[in-house]
Amino acid sequence: MTVLINNLVVDTPEHERARQLSAKYEGWNAESILRDAIDHEFVGQIALSSSFGADAVVLLHLVAQIDRTTPVIFLDTDRHFFQTLQYRDELVAQLGLTNLINLRPALEDVRALDPKNVLFQSDPDACCDFRKTKPLAAVTKDYAAWISGRKRAQAATRKAMQIVEFDGRNFKINPLADWTAQDVADYIRAHDLPPHPLVEQGYPSIGCFTCTKPVEEGQDARSGRWAGQDKTECGIHLSVYDGGGI
Ligand code: SF4
Repeated sequence: MTVLINNLVVDTPEHERARQLSAKYEGWNAESILRDAIDHEFVGQIALSSSFGADAVVLLHLVAQIDRTTPVIFLDTDRHFFQTLQYRDELVAQLGLTNLINLRPALEDVRALDPKNVLFQSDPDACCDFRKTKPLAAVTKDYAAWISGRKRAQAATRKAMQIVEFDGRNFKINPLADWTAQDVADYIRAHDLPPHPLVEQGYPSIGCFTCTKPVEEGQDARSGRWAGQDKTECGIHLSVYDGGGI
């Protein structure tokens, strides 16, 4: 992957490393990718970014089998469903994860930018920016790589996603890139893992309660996120050169 800065195509050693790792991991299963990334490629420099949403239990379970001390970053926007917060606490306890990092937006930003908690209506990008991107960007220096649960099948915007990406600042490891919704359901069933309680209420993708709706059967899984708006991503998965931070 290359990036564009001032109309110049930039291809760094990190982009080359991401390409090489993607080629190396092609055909590997998710557990093998994670084991290699955690125990070999990015020892002590890798964290799992988890939404504790509909599919999150898969990666949390896989990572817990490899190293329960792996940092698990949760972006606590103050706008989550209470079911998500309960689910987070239950999963962390059940899986024995010992390093949950709960990132909150800065209080001064809440007071200055969104004192009435309505910014998501008028400017959702700005809302995601101070509730998600900015808190996450503050800890990116602590890690070389992030594990993400994104999948190519989730949305048209993710179809070309590589197993390893470099966003200009950090590597993103996407061990579930080629997983389908059925693969996720099969894994959860095979390992008797608890589903997010909102899944059975029609939420295949779960974010803030203000910006998430249930979807009809057959619809794109992420179509309930910022439904009716152009917005499809919160910004944390955009390249830093796209203005999206990590
Ligand atoms: S998903 Fe909605 S409420 Fe949550 S941070 Fe983004 S715009 Fe704000």
